Amino acid sequence: MATELIPGKKMAFADLGRVAVLGLGKSGRAVAEYLIPQLGRRVESLTVYAGGATEEGLRWAEAARRRGAEVLFDTEEVKGAFRLCVASPGISQFSDFYCSAQAASDEVISEVELAWRESAADAIWIAVTGTNGKTTTTALACHLLKEAGFAACAVGNIGETCIGAVAADKWTHYVAETSSYQLASTVHFAPNVAVVLNITPDHLAWHRSHEAYAQAKWKVLENLPCVEGAVAVIGAVNDETRAMIRQLKAAGASRGFSYVPIGAKGGLSQDMRVVCGADNAAFVDDGVLTVALGGIEHALLPQRQLQLEGAHNRENALAAATAALAVGASAEAVTAALASFCALEHRIEPAGTVAGVACFNDSKATNVDATLAAISAFDPARPIFLLGGRDKGTDLAPLVAACNTHAKAVVCFGEARERFLEAFGRMGAPELEVLQAGCMEEALDEGLAVAGAGDVLVLSPACASFDEFSCFEERGDVFKALVAQRAAAAGEGLA
Ligand code: ADP
Repeated sequence: MATELIPGKKMAFADLGRVAVLGLGKSGRAVAEYLIPQLGRRVESLTVYAGGATEEGLRWAEAARRRGAEVLFDTEEVKGAFRLCVASPGISQFSDFYCSAQAASDEVISEVELAWRESAADAIWIAVTGTNGKTTTTALACHLLKEAGFAACAVGNIGETCIGAVAADKWTHYVAETSSYQLASTVHFAPNVAVVLNITPDHLAWHRSHEAYAQAKWKVLENLPCVEGAVAVIGAVNDETRAMIRQLKAAGASRGFSYVPIGAKGGLSQDMRVVCGADNAAFVDDGVLTVALGGIEHALLPQRQLQLEGAHNRENALAAATAALAVGASAEAVTAALASFCALEHRIEPAGTVAGVACFNDSKATNVDATLAAISAFDPARPIFLLGGRDKGTDLAPLVAACNTHAKAVVCFGEARERFLEAFGRMGAPELEVLQAGCMEEALDEGLAVAGAGDVLVLSPACASFDEFSCFEERGDVFKALVAQRAAAAGEGLA
């Protein structure tokens, strides 16, 4: 394998040889677009395994072939000999397809790994991972950096692809939302700051086991010792990530990087320096978001001035602020920018009022843990929750317990309906009203039917959307449109 590197880049091989790209989704296409212009120079040949043929894919393939790439549809096995294979996040590491790629190439990497390698040697990378809160924290960290005057870009699952942003060559700071899928195929990826918010069961179909899922997430820390001044920012309220903090503490200086725990077992108001002698900590001190880093304690924004609801968002804000401070943003700029950040679409987003019932779109809550965050964010209100969609098969006991104390009613719908009804039937409190509906629209109407003026109704489904919609965004958009329709109808009724 050629090892000559291009000067001024993190780890860009001068000769990439024969390259394969697995998948023609957003990231696969961006990788191919990045490599095609380099055919005949750094890239000897490019083969794109494009999956099932779509009209649009066929059109793209025609143009790509004219530019020298080979594009294969409906091929489930990688054959030949490649130096590099870049796998799309949709392709499980345990699939036969991925395994055939491993057999046929010197290495299989993800798009974030390629982008990091190709980025400028002095580029700053903040990688954000966790089961929940990645997008919010990524967007917020990027906002903080921009407001602090850096040329920062949010990349990864959140929007622009990592490789697309690197190719644009105009950013000094990349804030990357890195999923477990992307991290599973990293090798040398070494961010300056790695944020791990929480780890709870999710994506079992892709990773096959919770252990493999967690292991993929922790890969984000693997190369921190190679980066001068690297910092790990880790949620300490969550049991699984707190266990990692214990390991990091035990490793002492041999760890090779510093770490900042967010909160502690007892919640966000606990300072890990006091609880167990950590050097750094992020916490809420008497209502003020506070970050102690490198011996300096920064009292940032009073939490009531955040425009985000819920303890989970205060955790995201602490993580983003710590990351921004760690790469040199000033405490003044971070404080001002924390106050100006608004909630993202589909995440506890106000969706309007129907006959006095305030409706919220939390379609992004695609697992139980995310819905638990929403349930506690509304406390002490007792909302009506719409739960359902494509079931992820995880334990429902914590969800039922939270609804027992914090919900007025639940409406179970979609493919998950039967299992959810069974769980509420077995463990639900007698006073919790449990309703059912076939689809989301019916669930909304069922929920509105039992709501009175002043109540809160939340779509926070704890399930994927794919039984009824193409993605959570579509589910949220449809929900908002339905709420608007019902609001208009209620308004007419009153007139
Ligand atoms: P991700 O990109 O990891 O899915 P988002 O920021 O899009 O995260 O939030 C997804 C859902 O998870 C939202 O519905 C929100 O209510 C919930 N959530 C956000 N941050 C956290 C957190 N720190 N802990 C638990 N749940 C969270």
